[in-house]
Amino acid sequence: MAQNGIIENGQPKGEIPGLPKPVKITEVKYTKIFINNEWHSSVSGKTFPTYNPATGAKICEVEEADKLDVDKAVLAAKAAGDRGSAWRQMEVSGRGRLLNKLADLMERDRALLATMETMDTGKPFLHSFLIDLDGSIKTLRYYAGWADKIHGKTMPVDDNFMCFTKHEPVGVCGAIIPWNFPLLMFVWKVGPALCCGNTVVIKPAEQTPLTALHMGALIKESGFPPGVVNILPGYGPTAGAAISNHMEVDKVAFTGSTEVGKLIKEAAARSNLKRVTLELGGKNPTIVFADADLRLAVEEVQRGAFFNQGQCCTAASRIFVQEQVYEEFVRLSMESAERVLAGDPMDPRTAHGPQIDQKQFDKIVDLIRSGEREGATLEYGGRPMDRKGLFIKPTIFSGVKDHMRIAKEEIFGPVQCIFSFKSQEEAIERANGTPYGLAAAVFTRDVDRALSVSAALQAGTVWVNCYNALHAQTPFGGYKMSGHGRELGEYALAEYSEVKTVTIKVAKQD
Ligand code: ADP
Repeated sequence: MAQNGIIENGQPKGEIPGLPKPVKITEVKYTKIFINNEWHSSVSGKTFPTYNPATGAKICEVEEADKLDVDKAVLAAKAAGDRGSAWRQMEVSGRGRLLNKLADLMERDRALLATMETMDTGKPFLHSFLIDLDGSIKTLRYYAGWADKIHGKTMPVDDNFMCFTKHEPVGVCGAIIPWNFPLLMFVWKVGPALCCGNTVVIKPAEQTPLTALHMGALIKESGFPPGVVNILPGYGPTAGAAISNHMEVDKVAFTGSTEVGKLIKEAAARSNLKRVTLELGGKNPTIVFADADLRLAVEEVQRGAFFNQGQCCTAASRIFVQEQVYEEFVRLSMESAERVLAGDPMDPRTAHGPQIDQKQFDKIVDLIRSGEREGATLEYGGRPMDRKGLFIKPTIFSGVKDHMRIAKEEIFGPVQCIFSFKSQEEAIERANGTPYGLAAAVFTRDVDRALSVSAALQAGTVWVNCYNALHAQTPFGGYKMSGHGRELGEYALAEYSEVKTVTIKVAKQD
């Protein structure tokens, strides 16, 4: 989500008015499976731990949902969305009121939710509070506004027929979400699904189940009828696969790796051909032309590379800089990286926290080593930080070549890879030379260049002279292997609606 002018390169510009202190959480209240507005133990009796990546300490045990729990949840969601149910009979503006109420409760619990998000993900509290919570609340309010504006069209045919369309809910919508933005991904899916009148079965990532479960309590308190939203903490190959294979789930929305995205589509095809929307990986190119405002480009691109410890599908991971300004860009990037304050994510000044878990940490370190081995120049960082927890110093490579692993693989860590280019055509060709197509950015002062390059880039989002500028109003999704379908904006409504054509024969009048 866009950073609102009070954070620069992820770092606070001095005191931030209204930024509260993190809340002291001595015990996590909601750790069970949420079905039918009630808290359930898992059918298997199993639980799993969730950890704080900044300290490695276990936060708590959470009930572990599996197939039988998914069956219970889908049954509840189906009943909640049946013809004649309270949810289906509700005045459409009522859905909007409930979504707004949910946003109000998030405002009320904002500091608590931000603290919990930081505890479970390791992301700085500064960002949880100002970016994740801000974006989540705005997204819910945006979709609250759509609830009573979802309508069809009339189609002229001839005097013998009256034809119109109605937009109806798809039914039970499964959602499987990742650990990098647990709350934002929750509302990106639940917001449009509910405003269109669907019911939801959602599985948060196993690394970060806590804020999703707190949302269960707020959903109940808002007054949503039982079964409208069901939340199942658990693992991917068990609970996640049970959702994507389920015969009574009508749609599944997934955000995560391209690898798992393929499994989701396969499962949908093998079961009931449920609709699938996928938001997958990226290897996002940025092109910085010699005429760009270089300081702006350095700051925006670096925020794009390091924000959320680089754990973003939109991360600015391939930065092509025109040769005339290449050296200056590298120098300014190093200066700027010096200013990123890494450390305790609960400290309000911290802009850089730990990676999510050991597996990701090891993968990033391995990719950094491969960059060094393959001959890229390590300009900055490149090492784990000398402190407890899974911290990796923001890292800058220059002299990166297209064949290197760091140029091709999604790193999902704080690693900025800088390439040099000569001509516009060459930059476009190399930028598009990836199986991914999620986001791209262009930095130039020339409006004609900005328009022609953004037209040529194969990506679902192109930012010009900015980075990571995401808004509830604007659609987001990928070309090529970055997925299909769009989240956010009006476009997302189509992903959560069936279109019904009603054709009426008009009898001849004497
Ligand atoms: P990452 O590698 O970043 O953890 P994943 O794509 O593995 O990303 O995970 C994203 C989400 O997909 C998580 O909620 C995870 O539990 C879920 N998931 C993982 N494997 C499967 C699977 N086989 N079927 C359904 N969901 C899965």
